[in-house]
Amino acid sequence: MKRYSVLAIAREALRGHLGWARAGASPAPRAHYDVVIAGAGGHGLATAYYLGKNHGIRNVAIVEKGWLGGGNTGRNTTIIRSNYLQDPSAAIYEKSRSLYETLSQELNYNVMFSPRGVMMLAQTQHEVRGYQRTAHANALQGVATAYIGPQKVKELCPIIHIDGPRYPVLGALWQPRGGTARHDAVAWGYARACSDMGMDIIQQCEVTAVRQSQGRVTGISTTKGDIACDKLGIVVAGHSGELARMAGFRLPVESLALQALVSEPIKPCMDVVVMANTVHGYMSQSDKGEMVIGGGTDGFNNFTQRGSFHHIEETVRALIETFPMLSRLKMLRQWGGIVDMTGDRSPIISPTPLGNCFINCGWGTGGFKAIPGSGWAMADLMARGTPGPLAAAFGLDRFRAGRFIDESVAAGVAH
Ligand SMILES: Cc1cc2nc3c(=O)[nH]c(=O)nc-3n(C[C@H](O)[C@H](O)[C@H](O)COP(=O)(O)OP(=O)(O)OC[C@H]3O[C@@H](n4cnc5c(N)ncnc54)[C@H](O)[C@@H]3O)c2cc1C
Repeated sequence: MKRYSVLAIAREALRGHLGWARAGASPAPRAHYDVVIAGAGGHGLATAYYLGKNHGIRNVAIVEKGWLGGGNTGRNTTIIRSNYLQDPSAAIYEKSRSLYETLSQELNYNVMFSPRGVMMLAQTQHEVRGYQRTAHANALQGVATAYIGPQKVKELCPIIHIDGPRYPVLGALWQPRGGTARHDAVAWGYARACSDMGMDIIQQCEVTAVRQSQGRVTGISTTKGDIACDKLGIVVAGHSGELARMAGFRLPVESLALQALVSEPIKPCMDVVVMANTVHGYMSQSDKGEMVIGGGTDGFNNFTQRGSFHHIEETVRALIETFPMLSRLKMLRQWGGIVDMTGDRSPIISPTPLGNCFINCGWGTGGFKAIPGSGWAMADLMARGTPGPLAAAFGLDRFRAGRFIDESVAAGVAH
């Protein structure tokens, strides 16, 4: 793989950019692979990447029904943080956040990780106590967060109105090394690295059936023909229930459209990420200047992957009390993605009833931040057949045993 560098860019600028190699191959599927991953979102691609890098398994195909990163990975509001409450969550999200710190160098692809700091506003006494508790838990887990008061909030984010009539800002849970990254670049960077290791990324290739014999997967049927494999990884987020149905088991997952929107671009006015979970909205400013705003989920299960009109008004109305300047902004675009919600709002990284089939899903509204850590843990699971320390608590069996990892406060509505 040709490395990107300042020198390479200067050289190519002088020769009309004719020397760049293609970023990835576009192969037809082969008859057999050691591993097939269904879903070329961030989690599927990261799984393939760490299978190759950490375990030397490179005869891998990643099959994608649409285009690379065209699911939730390319639709999210890119918030990265690891300030969760429970130990297993803090471990995997912090692993992920720390991998983000050096991901651009690792993949030789600028994923624009921007650790600008994330604050979750406390706007009720309940939230004050909840976030103080999380800050204490994070201290024990080795995750660097702090509970800060309203004056510090104002100092870090001057456009916040801290004395709102209904929900004044009482403080915030602050993670200084949280932030954002460029979502498409995360998918493209992993894809380029996978392709460079000789893996096949096959787009426009929908899985239509999971073929099996005697309790094991033998391969998949796709819109580009049958592909045999020794192991199958299902990593299709909002469509996990569909793939599980094809494989013959049920998942405790619901699919819902989650909404987001951006404003017209304005001058830089906010260099942190702010989440206001009581009024329910969160916001950051993109490099282009747009205010990137996240809303809630639709109130009913669906696979529409579209913006729902009423969310614009509801979300902006909720945020205006805390950010009065929003009332002057025009909204530019709105969209939705199908998120896969579990009851305890924690993910599933698990073996399945089929011996050589593994599933990674349930990241719901907050899986972008988890892409590197999740890929690392899923690759470990698929290579060894049993979950390693990062994935051990996230098995499907927890729903049967009642060992829930309740992150409904940290992950239920916010990201
Ligand atoms: C509006 C919105 C805002 C969000 N904001 C944040 C945020 O700020 N921070 C955060 O951490 N998370 C956020 N998330 C959640 C995050 O985007 C997801 O959890 C994460 O991207 C999931 O990645 P994935 O790779 O599992 O899924 P996806 O990126 O959805 O990839 C799954 C892929 O599987 C493919 N697929 C489906 N069915 C098949 C099939 N039959 N055959 C082949 N391929 C198939 C799909 O086409 C898709 O490309 C947000 C999500 C949305 C929708």
